[in-house]
Amino acid sequence: MHSHYLSTSRSNPQFYTFSQVFEKAAILDPLWKEDVQQSAWLDFWKREGHEFLEQKWHKQYPEYKQAIELATPEERAAWQKLWEKHASDQSAHFWHIFSCVLENYERDLSNGLKDVGHTLTDIDEHFTYLDINQTDATIASVECNEEDQDYLTANDDPDFLDEEQQLRLLGLPTSFGVKSATSRQKPKQKPPSESESDSDMSNEKDEMHAVKARAIRKKKRQKNSKIPQFMRDDNLLLKYWFKRFSLFSRFDQGIVLDRESWFSVTPEKIAKQTARRLACDVIVDAFCGCGGNAIQFANTCGRVIAIDIDLNKLTMAKQNAAIYGVAHKIEFVHADFLQFASTTRLRPDVIFLSPPWGGPDYQKQANFDIEQNLLPLGATQLMEHARRLTDNIGFFLPRSSNIKQVIALTHAGEQCEVEHNYLDTRLVAITAYYGKSLVKSQK
Ligand code: ADP
Repeated sequence: MHSHYLSTSRSNPQFYTFSQVFEKAAILDPLWKEDVQQSAWLDFWKREGHEFLEQKWHKQYPEYKQAIELATPEERAAWQKLWEKHASDQSAHFWHIFSCVLENYERDLSNGLKDVGHTLTDIDEHFTYLDINQTDATIASVECNEEDQDYLTANDDPDFLDEEQQLRLLGLPTSFGVKSATSRQKPKQKPPSESESDSDMSNEKDEMHAVKARAIRKKKRQKNSKIPQFMRDDNLLLKYWFKRFSLFSRFDQGIVLDRESWFSVTPEKIAKQTARRLACDVIVDAFCGCGGNAIQFANTCGRVIAIDIDLNKLTMAKQNAAIYGVAHKIEFVHADFLQFASTTRLRPDVIFLSPPWGGPDYQKQANFDIEQNLLPLGATQLMEHARRLTDNIGFFLPRSSNIKQVIALTHAGEQCEVEHNYLDTRLVAITAYYGKSLVKSQK
């Protein structure tokens, strides 16, 4: 089966999440698809779809806000028509991306439900590349290793992109002041051209786009100079640098990360989703790292206890939390979670487990054994420690985790919920929820 691979923006990728409730027996409801599809699409739309629609509109028509104030009734009607077309085109476009992600989910789910030790022959096989600027998906199958997949976004290093690509990614016309590469260019929507004022509008827009494009290119060159030298020298890390705003939207306000944390921090959109799901009074973040999750918990929970065995990580987490204005809501505890769980009298409402996955090499495993490969203990033993404090547990796991093992962690007679988190079409991680207060549809 092919996987779809496409990207929208490395700094602000679209976020999709699919989840299903399982009994301990790990049986997939044969009719799962329709329900999951519908709720995932509605969730996406509520969470960010409508915002993307507006953002794209203002990017494409930066003059709109001013123009609409002074518009005559005819001009208003023209704008309205343009908006309707924009909304319909973009919704179709989002739906197309969503359909690709859903197919990937189907494939990822079936891979995850295979037995532990099953070797997948097709993990590095053909990825289906779709140019998202094409209205019809002209599909080219390319032999590709996932490590080579390239994201092209508005925040990318301009040295790596040609000008036409930059403009296209910024949603700007590609034909102003630069060579236009036509092969993959989406025909630009033009405002209705019945009246003189409409064509004025179009010319003005073109000029504004050209100015904006020049300014952004200049700004991006300046940004480029800020890449720390140690990252420039490290190809693996450089890839994460390009995604920095997807990890922390306030990255440039002083976020600090050590090398290890670049690989392990939870991207902000996923951390937000987990925080929505785990909203409660008192939460323990058992392996807090540099604080990506704890910061988001502080926005949805009354009190956050953030534990880490590494004092440097806690110091960074504190600084990062301050950037988000939530440091005062988090208690940073320097401890080994296993010892903490054995000795504390604290009874939190929820525990969040995001233990070490063993570094970036986890990505190479087609079927990640959560009993063998997690640190400092296998999943069952980690859960036992956490359950001393509460039964309500969120468990953040590698994307290729064996789902049968994930489901087997459920208490007899209960259910768990397994959520697959995608940034654009790429499965980033799985979050499993256990306990009566967390699992959505406990029978
Ligand atoms: P990954 O392998 O996913 O990259 P990390 O190595 O970043 O994960 O580990 C996540 C965090 O867990 C790190 O900040 C690490 O210091 C912390 N950690 C590891 N073991 C323990 C432990 N026993 N108790 C608390 N925190 C721990």
